[in-house]
Amino acid sequence: MKKAFQFRIYPNKNQEVALNRTLSTCRHLYNDSLGERKRQSELNELERTFGVTPWGKPEWLNYYDQANSLSGSKTDFQKGVFSQVLQNVMKRVERSFKNFFNGFGYPRFQGRDRYNSFTYPQSGFSIKQEKLNLSKIGNIKIVQHRAIEGMIKTCTIKKDIDQWYVTFSCEIDKPIIPVEIKTEIGIDVGLSSLITTSNGKQIEPPEFLRESEDKLTHEQKRLSRKKKRSQNRNHQRIVVAKTHRRIRNQRKDFAHKTSRKLVETFDHIVFEDLQIRNMVQNHHLAKSISDAGWSQLISLTKSKAECAGKVVELVNSRNTSQNCSGCGNSVPKDLSVRVHSCPFCGLVLDRDHNAAINILNRSKSTVGSTGINAHQGLLNRGSMQWEAPTL
Ligand SMILES: [Zn+2]
Repeated sequence: MKKAFQFRIYPNKNQEVALNRTLSTCRHLYNDSLGERKRQSELNELERTFGVTPWGKPEWLNYYDQANSLSGSKTDFQKGVFSQVLQNVMKRVERSFKNFFNGFGYPRFQGRDRYNSFTYPQSGFSIKQEKLNLSKIGNIKIVQHRAIEGMIKTCTIKKDIDQWYVTFSCEIDKPIIPVEIKTEIGIDVGLSSLITTSNGKQIEPPEFLRESEDKLTHEQKRLSRKKKRSQNRNHQRIVVAKTHRRIRNQRKDFAHKTSRKLVETFDHIVFEDLQIRNMVQNHHLAKSISDAGWSQLISLTKSKAECAGKVVELVNSRNTSQNCSGCGNSVPKDLSVRVHSCPFCGLVLDRDHNAAINILNRSKSTVGSTGINAHQGLLNRGSMQWEAPTL
């Protein structure tokens, strides 16, 4: 079982320079490796389409090709970075292509604001006496607010505007004892930031989250009024980024609390599969905006349930808001209709409550198979693209 532990670290001035330099070296290496691969795939395309090889026979590059060629030709900047950290950068390039072949977006070049972390994949780090030792960087002050469990596998350093964090990914060797399933719940995640459960309860995010979101809109408007490339604009850009961070932290906190509550109360928790929903629906729908938050809630619930020997299941949510949870007949309604009122059996329910019951029922009727089918669907889709990658 994997578990992540995140702590804030407090580098001094010199260490912060070293951290920033490492980040920048990694980012350049990432972009260079990505560029090399893109070039290769274009050459491949040229050969495939026209049968010409003007620069000799092209080859597909993989992680090992790139990692090998790096070790012989490091720049001075790269020599100042722990070698496994550099190798991990190439692993990231490899992963971004794998994701692409599995149906995600084409790998992008990374700007300074986007590329914000680097990873020690095995060694080169240790903790001693409230200090995190990073190879080639130094002993950085760390505040550990809780104990680390299990074996530390990787160590990732992350920059968040003006703050630095370390995340340890740990492997916990603890036997999981499945509990007997006695209680179950279906959950509908809504268009608004609202959760409705199959027993008719609603969970609303705290008011301060809404306030932060309003503040964000306000600060973004101010940013758009600032003159391009001015000092004021740059200052406002940081204000906006910090507001984003506050919202992110508040959402995470809400997701942690809600998932803990769900896992404490129920043995079997059923969500709709957002990946399926996204594939089916229009990406421009407002719904996909809130999905990032929902994915976080689902994955946190999953990992907490796993630790507790409980079950989280994802089901296809198709028509869950249209079908009647009482008799199964289809009762079409558009988004503005908030009440489900069935002309066939007379059931009257809140729209989302009806959907949540359907989500729970879907799990009962196809127990164990829906989740697997969903994943197989994804795998198939990936392998199809693998055969004919159009780059
Ligand atoms: Zn009905």
